[in-house]
Amino acid sequence: MIIKDKEFGEVIVRKSPLAAGVKFSISTSGRLQMSVPKYTSDFLAKRFLNTNRKLIKEKLPINDPATQRTRDYQKKVLMKKAKEYLPYRLEYYAKMYGYNYSRCRLTHANTRWGSCSSNRTISLNIGLMKVPEVLRDYVILHELAHLNHMDHSKAFWAEVGSHDKNYKNHEKKIKYFKPGL
Ligand SMILES: [Zn+2]
Repeated sequence: MIIKDKEFGEVIVRKSPLAAGVKFSISTSGRLQMSVPKYTSDFLAKRFLNTNRKLIKEKLPINDPATQRTRDYQKKVLMKKAKEYLPYRLEYYAKMYGYNYSRCRLTHANTRWGSCSSNRTISLNIGLMKVPEVLRDYVILHELAHLNHMDHSKAFWAEVGSHDKNYKNHEKKIKYFKPGL
């Protein structure tokens, strides 16, 4: 459910069977998120919001409604760019170096550029569209190498290094960028 709040903009309410009490957090777009127990009524959810209003304002960095909408738009644009580029770039390098992955997933988490799961799914952050191409390629090669080594062992780095001679420098440089919008 979404509560339209004058002050906070859209507030995302998640009703979860696992929630024991009310919890407030921030979504990636900077919206306020509330998780409440499953059978909480909408009326009660709104009341929780109102009684905690002051505390929420003090503690949580909520974006104002206009910024929330700007973020949504930026994400949409970035997702579109990413869809038209990242899966093909991944496929290109996989073919070049003989890797088999099962699928490419696009993410927009705030924390990581990419990941490779044991079912051979490679996830790439759409924020990669904002970093220099050489770093974007580095992340792709890094995740591809994880198909053979699910760790950061010496063997793993040797494999990354065989495709990207400057990988140490690229690993350092990518830290100057943040994956989130
Ligand atoms: Zn890694």
